[in-house]
Amino acid sequence: MNSESATVLNGSLAATAVHHICQQLHGVYQKQFDQSVRLGVLCIGDNPASIVYVGRKKSLATQLGFEFFDLSFPQDTPSDTVMVGLKQLLSKVNGMLVQLPIIPASDAKIYLTAIPWDKDVDGLNPYITGPMTPCTPLGCWLLLQYYGINVKGRHCVIVGRSHLVGRPLAKILLDHHATVTIAHSHTPDLPSVTRQADILFVATGARHLITPAYVQGHTIVVDVGIHRTDQGLTGDVHPDVYACVHSYSPVPGGVGPMTVAALMWNTLKAAFLQHDVALSDEYLGRCLATAEPFVLQNK
Ligand code: NDP
Repeated sequence: MNSESATVLNGSLAATAVHHICQQLHGVYQKQFDQSVRLGVLCIGDNPASIVYVGRKKSLATQLGFEFFDLSFPQDTPSDTVMVGLKQLLSKVNGMLVQLPIIPASDAKIYLTAIPWDKDVDGLNPYITGPMTPCTPLGCWLLLQYYGINVKGRHCVIVGRSHLVGRPLAKILLDHHATVTIAHSHTPDLPSVTRQADILFVATGARHLITPAYVQGHTIVVDVGIHRTDQGLTGDVHPDVYACVHSYSPVPGGVGPMTVAALMWNTLKAAFLQHDVALSDEYLGRCLATAEPFVLQNK
């Protein structure tokens, strides 16, 4: 057990480094193409968490100098009406996302598939894998890069197999040569699986599921879960785990800020791509790991 020496993987700090790079790149974009980057968000209904998340995206996008378009409809709006507004906005923006959850989920699929691959900044089109990596898994990986944690050859265990987090995260880790195990609600004896992890990612929506019995002293823990309680935000990992591991991402201040930072990066990536300039996640990761300034490379 590692107790007091555990390193906090501070997502607020790492996100600030990503914001800084995005802000510089946005300056280059404005100079080169004489326009600002434009991001649109489709929001349906009045889910309080969604309103908070859209507010955060708007605030950060505006801080970076992007133009932000919030396309909101009441819960019972017919999908045809939403589609008209969505198509109009799509013609104006570089990047577009659908704020989930949308009820019914079948409508979410209709809107997600209407976003062209080169504007799909959440990377969530269920039929087309485009160049933008889904934001939460990308944020997890960038957080590790910022702390110089290389996943190559490490055993990464992901608890949760959603299309939003677990599955795309597995792809990123495999692409970077990790050995990946995905566990879920049907996995027997979960602690015996998670204890094998060098790096444990938890994205279950089960509050405080991971207790000290699920980890070892060398484990690096990345907590994706978010739960709102009367005492504030908390995650899928019980705070007692923090004293027992090598390092951990806290909630709040871990993966959450990295997700929004990854969205800004993806929006820039989309905008540059529309001018035939390709930005690479790997290069961003290397810059974060080495604290080298990001330099736009001509292809
Ligand atoms: P989903 O509900 O879509 O998926 C949850 C996954 O966890 C499923 O694969 C499920 O298994 C598995 N699971 C649930 N309970 C258990 C359990 N007791 N033991 C093992 N596996 C379990 O959730 P999401 O992936 O969308 O989100 C997961 C969490 O991450 C939530 O708390 C969400 O709020 C948070 N989140 C945070 C973000 C951020 O920016 N920080 C962004 C997105 C999500 P099965 O497939 O068998 O049902």
